[in-house]
Amino acid sequence: MTWMRDTVLIDGRWQRCPAVTAVENPATGEVVGQAAAATVADVDDGVRAAYAAGVNWGRTTGEQRGKALGELAEALRTRRDELVAATVAEVGAPIAVAEESHVDLAIEIIESFAAIARDTPLIERVGNSVLLRRPAGVVACITPWNYPLYQLAAKVGAALAAGCTTVLKPAELTPITTYLFCDAVLETSLPAGVVNLVPGSGSVVGPALTEHPDVAVVSFTGSTVVGRQVGRTAGELIKRACLELGGKSASVILEDADIAAAVFATVDSAMLNSGQTCSAWTRMLVPRSRYGEAVQLAATRANALVVGDPTDRGTDLGPVVSLKQRLSILAAVNGAVDRGATIVAGGPDPLPGLVGHFVRPTVLCGVERGDPVTTEEIFGPVLVVEAYEDVEDAIALANGTDYGLAGAVWSGDVDRALDVAGRLETGQVDINGAKFNPLAPFGGWKLSGLGRELGTVGIEEFTEWTAVQL
Ligand code: NAD
Repeated sequence: MTWMRDTVLIDGRWQRCPAVTAVENPATGEVVGQAAAATVADVDDGVRAAYAAGVNWGRTTGEQRGKALGELAEALRTRRDELVAATVAEVGAPIAVAEESHVDLAIEIIESFAAIARDTPLIERVGNSVLLRRPAGVVACITPWNYPLYQLAAKVGAALAAGCTTVLKPAELTPITTYLFCDAVLETSLPAGVVNLVPGSGSVVGPALTEHPDVAVVSFTGSTVVGRQVGRTAGELIKRACLELGGKSASVILEDADIAAAVFATVDSAMLNSGQTCSAWTRMLVPRSRYGEAVQLAATRANALVVGDPTDRGTDLGPVVSLKQRLSILAAVNGAVDRGATIVAGGPDPLPGLVGHFVRPTVLCGVERGDPVTTEEIFGPVLVVEAYEDVEDAIALANGTDYGLAGAVWSGDVDRALDVAGRLETGQVDINGAKFNPLAPFGGWKLSGLGRELGTVGIEEFTEWTAVQL
């Protein structure tokens, strides 16, 4: 299956673009699609359409927004198979991961915002004031390549529930799922111009959106380097920027934990989506007395993971998204080894018989405290095992990075785990492998970003308040 698109979506109509960029399947190197390379003029058209559509969409009731979002969830569900196929083809995610963590989660998120739109009062009373919950305006939704549909759903769902209109800019590597999302939008009663699409390069379309005077909010997910640029521009223009950036999250295994369960789940988290998950637990912190045992268990688990064809249901890890990404991961692993790290599973060697951008699930141990491999995001299937002396040391070690996106605590005593969780400088903590909750706020401390997505907290990023005194 291929997806050859050459259009931008402006005010409900597809318009042809003269320039296109190819989309590669990272498992095979084959071209599986193409997308329009939008210009600054296309961005301007998209923002104008969104701004004009906002006049009426911004005045809809929560019930109307909920109805349209419900229709969108349904339209996405009817094209689930194609969305899964496109995710496998453009991201390289194994089919089971594409189904559960990319597509079904995205649909669940749109559904959650349908309910939130219906349930959120647009007028509140405080003393002699009437508080009007109003849409902030046009939202630029700039998304990365690792979970393209999920990230889009988190932004568009919240923005539409808040009464905002949107202009979408997917990552150059993974635009296909965003096109399919827009196909679904066009099947709903959402008015023309509420969702516009301008695929294209980060260096042209990205700044054109961020700098546009009629964009009120930039909702950006991506690297900390680019997030900093977006934040700087937004600050200069006094517009809001929600920044969901990188991570280097720790899984803290306390000595009373079920160590095998904790280690296995930590390896699985680090390797999910070939390690290209911003909230992955890429550092495993274990008591020094259990270090050898934990390293062995981690190696056993990583070695058991099947790397290969992402269309095969038996595959655990597909390729990483690009050659550039593969080389950057291997450079991080080789750098750690040069500084004395030991590879206990995986490593930089190529996988025989595979032509795409594959990386072995890798476990490193024996690194110095503060080594870059323990503090810098690798964004590949690489787990580092570190030893701590006592709980205070574990907390200091977990907090010892510039990031603060996610984390885990494992203990036989939930109250003890909660106490440790409350001392981690991070936006999310899962205790004993608790499952992801799409209604809980998601976002980072420190260099992991500003603002929160998902759930009722998620719509605050797209809301302005007017207080009227009576
Ligand atoms: P990236 O920052 O290179 O690109 C992200 C998006 O920004 C892309 O659409 C890109 O085209 C666009 N962009 C590039 N330059 C821009 C500019 N100057 N102005 C505006 N937009 C611009 O990141 P990536 O390589 O696509 O994604 C990987 C990174 O994203 C990792 O660091 C990862 O941790 C992070 N990430 C964070 C989260 C989160 O929720 N915190 C989720 C997923 C990924």
